[in-house]
Amino acid sequence: MASVLNRVEEACNRAGRDPISVRIVGVSKTVSAEKISEAIAAGITIIGENRVQEARDKIVKVHGNAEWHLIGHLQKNKVKYIFDLFQMMESLDSLDLAKAIDNRAEKGTVVFPVLIEVNVGEEKSKSGLLPKTVLESVKEMARLKWIRIRGLMAVPPYSENPEDSRSYFRHLGEIQREIQAEGIDGVELQELSMGMTNDFEVAVEEGATLVRIGRAIFGERQN
Ligand SMILES: *Cc1c(COP(=O)(O)O)cnc(C)c1O
Repeated sequence: MASVLNRVEEACNRAGRDPISVRIVGVSKTVSAEKISEAIAAGITIIGENRVQEARDKIVKVHGNAEWHLIGHLQKNKVKYIFDLFQMMESLDSLDLAKAIDNRAEKGTVVFPVLIEVNVGEEKSKSGLLPKTVLESVKEMARLKWIRIRGLMAVPPYSENPEDSRSYFRHLGEIQREIQAEGIDGVELQELSMGMTNDFEVAVEEGATLVRIGRAIFGERQN
C-alpha cells in the first residue's frame, strides 16, 4: 500500500501533477471483507468491485468508511441494487443501460454519478463504447436527468509492457477533451479512470484521476 502511494506520487512528479489529483481505487474482487477492512484502515478511501452480488455480500462485513465503485459490466436486471451499494458506476457501457439506471434511480434524491467505459482497443472480448460512438452516446445520455456523467474509464488491451498502454490512455484523454469542447449541458468530464497494477504509473503520466489497482494492493488473486 505504501509503495503504491509512493509510485503514484513519483509518477505525478514526473508529469508535473499534484498527487492530490489522483485517487486510488482498491480493486477487491475475490478479496475477503477482512482484507478490505485492513486496506481501508491503511488509508484506501475507494473500493472497486466488479460484481453486484459479491459487493452485496461483502459491504455489510467491511469495517471503516469507503466509497464503493462498480467497475464491472452490469446486467440490466441488477440495476435496482446499485443505488444502495455504490456511490459511482465506472463501467457504464451502453445507452440502454444508462436509460435503465435513469429509470430506476431514486428520483428526487440522488443523481447517480457514472463514468462511461470506452473500449479503447476496440476488442471484441471487452465491453465499452467504441471511441467513434462515445460523443453521440454522451449527447443522448446527457438528457437523462438521474445520472450524471463525470468522466471516462478504459481498460486497454493487456500487455506485459506498460508502455504499450500509453497510446490508449492518451486516446482516452483526447476523447475527454473532444467531448468537453462540445460544451454539452450537464456534462463535466473531470474523471479519467485508467491504469491497473501493470500500467498505473503510465496512466498517471497520461492524466488519470482514478487508478484502479487490485494485485499491487491485495496481492495475486486466487483463481
Ligand atoms: C480487476 C480489475 C482491475 C484491477 O486489476 P489489477 O491488475 O489487479 O490491478 C481494474 N479494473 C478492472 C475493470 C478490473 O476488472
